[in-house]
Amino acid sequence: MKRRKFIDKCISFVIGGTVIGGMVRRVSAQTTGYDPTKHLYGMGIQIDKCIGCGRCAEACKAENDVPKEPFFFRTWVERYIIKKDNSTIVQNIDSRIPKPSETFEEKEILRSFYVPKLCNQCENPPCVQVCPVGATLKTEDGVILVDEDRCIGCRYCIQACPYGARYLHPEKGTADKCTFCYHRITNDLLPACVEVCPTQARIFGDLKSGASPLGRFRRMNKLHVLKPFLNTEPKVTYSGLDGEVR
Ligand code: SF4
Ligand code: SF4
Repeated sequence: MKRRKFIDKCISFVIGGTVIGGMVRRVSAQTTGYDPTKHLYGMGIQIDKCIGCGRCAEACKAENDVPKEPFFFRTWVERYIIKKDNSTIVQNIDSRIPKPSETFEEKEILRSFYVPKLCNQCENPPCVQVCPVGATLKTEDGVILVDEDRCIGCRYCIQACPYGARYLHPEKGTADKCTFCYHRITNDLLPACVEVCPTQARIFGDLKSGASPLGRFRRMNKLHVLKPFLNTEPKVTYSGLDGEVR
């Protein structure tokens, strides 16, 4: 019952057409008629469309009260540089994050591309399995949430996530991560990162609706997930993902 109340709290509210960002601590005017059992959310990412502008990561920080300092992200973008000698360099596109010490010249680059990353909203989430107090949970619509009122900041989930998708919020002392902007999607709005992406590299939708743009994306493309060998069953899928991406 407590869990149900928490999820209800997350399903929050739009005032005068403007979303009040963030999620857990907001007292909500409950969305009327939202039924989580009717949805299963996912995201598609088209690698060939991402131009590495970083607007998604900026919008996410503003929407979800993510600290502005580097190293705190709910979503981020990496540049993969494949060199002609087949070695790979990975850089976070945030210019404040130190680049790997390895230097190279443009002429050494075979190809490079951008990979947006975020919580994969795993169907089999290791983070949920290790949480000792049940603060990390999976909703009926497939989104993994953190109940800040229960989280004791032990970091077990941060260590268990194989995708580096969680961080400890420095002010709240609780684990934080992407929620697909749960407060927005349960009000028929797109996640902030999807809304601002100028190239539609990110496609959000309901996996139960084959007619949605996400359904089309999934039908029309060869899909990849990150670290498939872990059997976490990510609900974030990629098209055009290079074998070098981890
Ligand atoms: Fe790529 Fe879109 Fe993010 Fe820009 S906003 S970095 S194009 S995913
Ligand atoms: Fe949990 Fe990490 Fe999977 Fe997200 S990506 S559900 S934080 S294990």
